[in-house]
Amino acid sequence: MKEEILKKAQKLDAEDTLASFRSKFYFPQKNGGDCIYLCGNSLGLQPNTTSQYVNAELEKWQKHGVEGHFTGAKPWVSYHKNSKSVLAKILGAKEDEVVAMNNLTTNLHLAMASFYRPNGKRTKILIERGAFPSDFYAVHSRIKVSGQDPDKNLIELEPTDGSDYLSTAEITAKIEELSDELALVMFPGVQYYTGQLFDIDAITKAAHKVGAYAGFDLAHAAGNVPMQLHDTNVDFAVWCTYKYLNSGPGGVGGLFIHEKHGQNIEMPRLSGWWGHDSESRFKMKNQINPIPTVDGWQLSNVNILSHASHLASLDIFDQAGIENLRAKSIKLTDFMESVINSSEVLTKNIKVLTPGSSNERGAQLSLYLINHGKSVFEFLLDNGAILDWREPNVIRVAPVPLYNSFTDVVNFVSILEKAIINEG
Ligand SMILES: *Cc1c(COP(=O)(O)O)cnc(C)c1O
Repeated sequence: MKEEILKKAQKLDAEDTLASFRSKFYFPQKNGGDCIYLCGNSLGLQPNTTSQYVNAELEKWQKHGVEGHFTGAKPWVSYHKNSKSVLAKILGAKEDEVVAMNNLTTNLHLAMASFYRPNGKRTKILIERGAFPSDFYAVHSRIKVSGQDPDKNLIELEPTDGSDYLSTAEITAKIEELSDELALVMFPGVQYYTGQLFDIDAITKAAHKVGAYAGFDLAHAAGNVPMQLHDTNVDFAVWCTYKYLNSGPGGVGGLFIHEKHGQNIEMPRLSGWWGHDSESRFKMKNQINPIPTVDGWQLSNVNILSHASHLASLDIFDQAGIENLRAKSIKLTDFMESVINSSEVLTKNIKVLTPGSSNERGAQLSLYLINHGKSVFEFLLDNGAILDWREPNVIRVAPVPLYNSFTDVVNFVSILEKAIINEG
């Protein structure tokens, strides 16, 4: 690694107005120092305020027992409302369109119960080939539960020209081809394996043009890239909060339902008491009266401890601002790619699977090792880098703008170069 690249990184860090956010997180330790943590796309780091937020609710429980539902600045009965304003900013939604609840896959099932209702010829769901396993299982099983044949109705789109990722034109062409047989298009915001950022606007428009719904899995997009879910007319979206949103392992998930559907209380859904109008919730009248917002899809009372942990991280997002984070993220990922490309050893041995243009990717590069295997990954781990390995030969690295630095990028690439040179 050339000395001048490290100097450049140090200069970029000195100019970075978000650099101080790094100190708000705990870093795993290795060899007496902070790890180079590039795994925020899998499990975001813990903010050092999280325990305060969680402890506040534990204390409230200690002191007030069941009365905690109605006491303090954040009564448990309406606790889910505390995350709405920041989530709305991150996702480009109205507060009445977003709610944190359950986990991602559960929310996907709840959304599909409303948005996949096969009717006549219109029975198909379009996803991408190589979708995240949970999404594939969810969609496949939903088709089956609906009395349809998944072999005929689950359409998996793959690139035609041997490319590593789909073009928007290929996706919209397939949507047009399926036309009135298509019930739902279910795509990721950012693809977990390649890191590709899809054109949510174009996909949604194409789906609506043929009379299908458009839903998105934002597991790798929420907190990574800013979105405009309301203005792009997305029908529904789901996400988890333990990746870029740093809410802790298995943390609460999220659901977006566009207000045009949220306001429609006749929209079929799976219901529970928490989605019911709070005034008459306890009247036990057996009369269903859903809340006319996304909250009408809630089933259960709020998981307070998980939600408290979520709020700790959302407050940091609010201070940093998703647009500022994205601006740094673009620089950081572009910088990582340029440092990799400046090394002859690396360009010979690595193929970047992620699209090269910043408007087609978020904070991730998926590095395909052409001539080496898992031992490179193990060398990286031994030398203090934490990242993610995917079969057959892919290392996914996520330089996260909230807590990663340009120096992290250089240190990582230099260990990667050593690993490959060592292997010969
Ligand atoms: C991480 C991830 C999930 C995880 O689902 P959970 O229900 O939170 O366990 C699902 N889908 C995608 C695309 C993911 O990246």
